Amino acid sequence: YVARIDDVLRTEKEQPPGQSRPAPPLAGRVALENVSFAYGAAAGPAAPMVIREVSLEIEAGSFVALVGPSGAGKTTLAHLLMGLYKPTSGRVLVDGHDLATLDLRSLRRQLGVVTQNPYLFGPSIRQSIALAEPSMPLERVIEAAKLARIHDEIEALPLGYDTLLGDGGSLLSGGQRQRIALARALATRPALLLLDEATSNLDAAREKEIHLELDRYSGTRIVIAHRLSTVRSADRIIVVDQGRIRESGTYQELLDRRGVFANLVEAQLAPAAKPEPVAAGG
Ligand code: ADP
Repeated sequence: YVARIDDVLRTEKEQPPGQSRPAPPLAGRVALENVSFAYGAAAGPAAPMVIREVSLEIEAGSFVALVGPSGAGKTTLAHLLMGLYKPTSGRVLVDGHDLATLDLRSLRRQLGVVTQNPYLFGPSIRQSIALAEPSMPLERVIEAAKLARIHDEIEALPLGYDTLLGDGGSLLSGGQRQRIALARALATRPALLLLDEATSNLDAAREKEIHLELDRYSGTRIVIAHRLSTVRSADRIIVVDQGRIRESGTYQELLDRRGVFANLVEAQLAPAAKPEPVAAGG
């Protein structure tokens, strides 16, 4: 254990001290300028570019969806937009500030990230939602849980918000863990919210309800979703393919264009449109 702690203590700081300034309160406008990214760039120039020369502007408060085939670079692009990865080349600007000049801790306090398989830090549901701010009043915890559509289920437990989570939330279902993680992200009222397949374990109706609630949320929302019906109301859908932006527009604009997105939508609808084959002797 000491050797493992030592490893952490010896690791170089992510940001050299004194070379950045605290992030001011952000509105959530994001711009990428000619951004490319390779994993393990330190390993040498042979590392393949996963994001290639992407330029993009996202307005504060808008709902942007990233769609495209698996491995296209959606998650990587979203992490770059949130300042969670540093571009190999190019710049990322939030509210006009180059992220390279901002203190990352003060930036990240204004971000909310929910992934497909979130880990919950306990011990109780209430503490897990209030993770970023342990003194958060219960009303705010409840407000976030209501937004994430998990409040009623928490209330139905014998100990309510004081229910202990078990290891990483293992006593809850995948869908409940996702919604508690969403409440945790919303509780800090982040300027930028990233939902990366964050509602994938919920049924389509529940997922839709949550997104309707989130339409009232004022920050910038970046959503990666496999289920394309989820992103219908997005201000802008960005189709990513092989590390580049292939198409971008509203749901209807992209359908009318009859390009990659229209094909993706058709592929998702196709099985439902065809009648089920009747199994012989079934
Ligand atoms: P998507 O979200 O569209 O499925 P990703 O952004 O996760 O795509 O991945 C884009 C590419 O980057 C893929 O080829 C993937 O294998 C690669 N990749 C993703 N994460 C890592 C990592 N941590 N290290 C190395 N390569 C990665």
